[in-house]
Amino acid sequence: MKVLVVNCGSSSVKYTLFDMDGEKKIAWGLVECIGLDEAYYKRQSLKCGEKKDSVKASNHTQAVELVIKELLDKDCGSISGIDEIAVVGHRIVHGGEKFSKPVLVDKDVKDGLKECFAIAPLHNPAHYAGIEAVEKMLPGIPSVLVFDTAFHQTMPDYAYMYALPYEYYEKDHIRRYGFHGTSHNYVSQRAAELLGKPLSELKIITAHLGNGSSVTAIENGKVIDTSMGFTPLQGVVMGTRCGDIDPAIIAYLIEAYPEFKDGAAINNLLNRKSGLFGISGLSGDMRTIVKAIAAGNKRAKLEYDMLCYSIKKYISAYFGILNGADALVFTAGIGENSPTVRQKACEGLSALGIEMDVEKNKEPLNSERFISAPSSKVKIMIIPTNEELMIAREAKKVLANE
Ligand code: ADP
Repeated sequence: MKVLVVNCGSSSVKYTLFDMDGEKKIAWGLVECIGLDEAYYKRQSLKCGEKKDSVKASNHTQAVELVIKELLDKDCGSISGIDEIAVVGHRIVHGGEKFSKPVLVDKDVKDGLKECFAIAPLHNPAHYAGIEAVEKMLPGIPSVLVFDTAFHQTMPDYAYMYALPYEYYEKDHIRRYGFHGTSHNYVSQRAAELLGKPLSELKIITAHLGNGSSVTAIENGKVIDTSMGFTPLQGVVMGTRCGDIDPAIIAYLIEAYPEFKDGAAINNLLNRKSGLFGISGLSGDMRTIVKAIAAGNKRAKLEYDMLCYSIKKYISAYFGILNGADALVFTAGIGENSPTVRQKACEGLSALGIEMDVEKNKEPLNSERFISAPSSKVKIMIIPTNEELMIAREAKKVLANE
């Protein structure tokens, strides 16, 4: 059975085709710069390896058309007809309070997704365009939506509410939603498998640390709390996002600087100009920061210390919320590849039973593994995330009506 996973951004379409017998990736790629004069199409398949072209893709439908053409190509294609694709799984950033699990697309679901445009204006309209493009190019093939927010819908109200006047929750749906849910879900399931215990008996803290980062407290397979909030801006310090700040700073900036008179300018500052980039003045990419620290750059070191400290704060808070933890899992670009961030985020947490094996942590491996010391009560693990596979599994499950 083949499942196509699609992730549509405002100017990109990413895809992966899985053969679910053995959960093998057979073709994957990306069309980017959609809508510009020149778009780019990078793709790989087991049959033909890597190919890159500049292409014409004025909208998502044209981009999806390119993808389907390639999948059907007589030399490099991976399918001989579109009906070989059993189901398409779409990654959707925001499901609001409406969607707490993956759903099969129908008119009501599409209308529900539209209702979430206001709270996810950057992402959901692009996802919607992607769904319509797939419907057009793959008529009759069912689509399933898998939401980044859905896994977090188990949070108790006292964890997801903000202490603003209640009417803003009722009217504007302002509350904590949490993001990266598919990743937190995937790595917590893998952690249970590696620990050899049912997820329903475990307390796990998962740290998804990439360009965007979030930490989540999971008890018995259910999210209790997560660091991202109404948007993916809240929580730990990130590549270009500030994470937690005193909200009064925003009012101060609006009063003090004429350029911050509207929400878009403030959003740009907090989402694109802050974090690693804002403090270092160099880059939002951790690899550049690490090099700058080695060259003696003090602001890069300060930002790195801030980022690690903010992760440690959430780990400690969630340890308390969960009243202990069986495992602490690191995943995503930084979580999987930066031994120094992992080490610093766990430093001085031996009182919580979090003790790292520093040598194991440094091993340059690219695989699932334990990096805690034998004496550590909390098992520290690295688990490479696989959101595409998780979406493919969820789509397959929904199709089978499981
Ligand atoms: P996204 O959130 O966009 O999916 P990723 O999960 O790919 O991002 O993470 C990107 C981050 O991972 C970047 O800050 C990058 O510098 C960092 N990263 C990747 N490899 C390394 C490495 N070897 N050492 C330190 N940081 C790394």
